[in-house]
Amino acid sequence: MSKQQDYENSPLYKIRHSLAHVMAQAVLEMFPTGKIAIGPPIEDGFYYDFDLPRALTPEDLKAIEKRMRNIVKKRYGFERQELSAAEAKELFADQPYKIELIEGLEAGGVDENGEPLPADERPVISTYRHDSFVDLCRGPHVKDLGKINPKAFRLLSIAGAYWRGDEHRQQLQRIYGTAWETPAELKEYLHRLEEAKKRDHRKLGKELEIFATNADELGGGLILWLPNGGLLRHLAEDFCKQEHLKHGYDMVYSPHIGKSTLWETSGHLAFYKDGMYSPIDIDGQEYYLKPMNCPFHILMYKNNLHSYRDFPLRFAEWGTVYRYERSGTLHGLLRVRGFTQDDAHHFCREDQMPDEIDFVLNFSLHILRSFGFKDFHAYLSTQPPEKSVGEAKQWRAAEAALEAALKRAEIPYDIDEGGGAFYGPKIDLKISDAIGREWQLSTIQFDFNLPERFNMTYIGADGKEHRPYMIHRALLGSMERFFGVLIEHFAGAFPVWLAPVQAKLIPITDRHNDYAADVAAKLKTAGIRVEIDDSSERMGNKIRKAQKKKVPYMLIIGDKEMEANAVAVRLRNGDDLGAIAVDEFITLAQKTIAEKETV
Ligand SMILES: [Zn+2]
Ligand SMILES: [Zn+2]
Repeated sequence: MSKQQDYENSPLYKIRHSLAHVMAQAVLEMFPTGKIAIGPPIEDGFYYDFDLPRALTPEDLKAIEKRMRNIVKKRYGFERQELSAAEAKELFADQPYKIELIEGLEAGGVDENGEPLPADERPVISTYRHDSFVDLCRGPHVKDLGKINPKAFRLLSIAGAYWRGDEHRQQLQRIYGTAWETPAELKEYLHRLEEAKKRDHRKLGKELEIFATNADELGGGLILWLPNGGLLRHLAEDFCKQEHLKHGYDMVYSPHIGKSTLWETSGHLAFYKDGMYSPIDIDGQEYYLKPMNCPFHILMYKNNLHSYRDFPLRFAEWGTVYRYERSGTLHGLLRVRGFTQDDAHHFCREDQMPDEIDFVLNFSLHILRSFGFKDFHAYLSTQPPEKSVGEAKQWRAAEAALEAALKRAEIPYDIDEGGGAFYGPKIDLKISDAIGREWQLSTIQFDFNLPERFNMTYIGADGKEHRPYMIHRALLGSMERFFGVLIEHFAGAFPVWLAPVQAKLIPITDRHNDYAADVAAKLKTAGIRVEIDDSSERMGNKIRKAQKKKVPYMLIIGDKEMEANAVAVRLRNGDDLGAIAVDEFITLAQKTIAEKETV
């Protein structure tokens, strides 16, 4: 059973679903002319979308929550009823959004939230009633509200949302809530939420001057990497590229646009057009911005004739791609319209394929561990039951290779049976961050489709033409997303090798400035990134400022340090290492940098 199915069968799901109804009842009691749209349970909570005569305020949220508590305390039971479309329309006569949903159910193929239904599932029109409130719903709910602890839920926020996610339609007000089985669980969740807020990469990205966005003048979903972010990215890319070269990758570069015919051959125009931008006309020929790098690497492959001796081939590129995302979904570095993938394509023979998968998984883990990630969880997606390309034999061999590699690497994994793309099975590798959130970074994806479409071949030992195995691999994923995750994981306090400024020299008074400049010169020569704060501020302020910028080492310099040719070392976490000879500090810092450690 999938994670989602587990959730849908859990008591929490029922609690959250039921509270969405209770919230709608409370809101309609306060706004009797209000219209209700949809209100599903979501991860950690629930929401409901409303069309109301005025904008909701934080005070309204408190009032709604209070009403909800009173309703819950009455322990009303839920009653299910099935009805015909005509009866349902009569029941919801003054609720236009519900009427539209009922019409959808009548037409078939969608559920009561307008979401697509599996082909074999026939929509049933059913309602759930508790107290005076009836909602179009297929459940499940708690048997009665007595099953809900009135102290274990909280309304969190109000957001704008378009009806059916369509920006051309009515804008609604969405209220988010969270609910748990016990007040202790709620408290723990609210703490995690608070922690996540402090780590928000958009807030830290601004404070640490890592990146900027500018929807007005530049356009949404496009990232400006500021000098600190540029340095971080350069250091990360430089390390990764060196590792790629050491591990048998070839570095390649490809252009940002390609002819429409290329995207026709690859199938992108047939199957991925919604994710692509409008064509550019060059001499009467249409070109498209690339949403993926794959077709270019295939053209590179086809630039030569290949024999079985050439393999494995590993083409790697930091390739910048452009994909359409709805403006409402853009989110800092995590959801953008232009991003750079650390992309690679592996080509190999069938007999090499298991080793190649072993290699690519271990290489991915090596790089991720180098950035300080320790907890991994993999998801293996296998052949979908409907349409897919490639022979069953290939699918089984590829799936077996993926699973065997996970076992050998001792990575815990779940199998998403039938969850693969039509063109091949894959592994999604997720990392857990410092506060236990899972983030998807790496993907290792087989492709039985593009080698066919591009008629890729090699000459085998038998002198005949064969198709190579093709594997797509994005390791960090995209540099944008990766740094979004990295900022949140470290709360901006990067390991020393990545910190834009590694040491801040803090002379206590003006007469220590010359000595500070000497020390700075020594550190620079030793490859340590250093800045001097020779402003006239007090030492305490200088330390606080450096701490706020998450500088790993603060080196304080007064008379004593000057005399002893030393620095007094403070760490950004507040630890005080006392006075250390300058040379000794250099050795210490260099070791920490080389080992990619943190302080
Ligand atoms: Zn419901
Ligand atoms: Zn690819």
